[in-house]
Amino acid sequence: MAYETVAVENRGAVAWIMHDRPQVRNAESSQLLDELDAALAAAVADNSVCVVVIGARGDHFSAGHDLKEAQATRAGFTVEERYTYEEKRYFEYALRIWDCPKPTIASVQGACVAGGFMVANMCDMVVASEDAFFADPVCRSLASAAAEVLVHPWVMGLRSAHEFLLTGRRMSAQEALRLGMVNRVVPRDRLEAEVQELAATVAQTYPFAARLVKRSLKRTADIQGFRASLQSHFDTHQLSHVSDEYRHMREEGLAAGIARGKEASGR
Ligand code: ZN
Repeated sequence: MAYETVAVENRGAVAWIMHDRPQVRNAESSQLLDELDAALAAAVADNSVCVVVIGARGDHFSAGHDLKEAQATRAGFTVEERYTYEEKRYFEYALRIWDCPKPTIASVQGACVAGGFMVANMCDMVVASEDAFFADPVCRSLASAAAEVLVHPWVMGLRSAHEFLLTGRRMSAQEALRLGMVNRVVPRDRLEAEVQELAATVAQTYPFAARLVKRSLKRTADIQGFRASLQSHFDTHQLSHVSDEYRHMREEGLAAGIARGKEASGR
């Protein structure tokens, strides 16, 4: 399959699936999310692939969902249409990364914001370059209750998740490392090589044993309530899309909201 918004390369037993819209800071359009999901399914089906890397071409992992596209094509959506759209492209796609039967690694540089944060944190491991930063400013910018998939407390701890979401501020790669949200931080020019090396090491694991240990680790999270809490947040997030605050934000204009988000996350 030919992709237009993701780039796929197999390097040995490692499939690299990269966001490929660097001209718009890898904003995740519908097409990009569809292609990311299709490329993931293809990597799972390909017996020569043992590990999947989700990364990005250009200076940034992803600035988040493509809000210009949302404004142009989905502004008139009913509650039902928005729910259906977000359930498929944001929630189900994200959980498919989480549930991928093969080990996954996110390779993160530059901005990793909101929707991009969600995708990167669905991966089993995260490697960040020194210039990487994380933010989810939508509470402040777009009157939305975080991104659609509330993975935040699971990867950074409850205390940090409160501050992160309620301020919308930027978190550096070093801070993410200290909190255990990323596995390692490497120089920008070493990112791809270090991720490939880690992936190649993981690829030497017996694939069925790897699949089983992943299931056990994910089930550990499920026993703690991971999936149910994400499902619950998805519905709560939808409520934030129909609030008066949200309507006021829309009337004021998305541009003002995005500017507030940039101010919060220091971009
Ligand atoms: Zn939403």
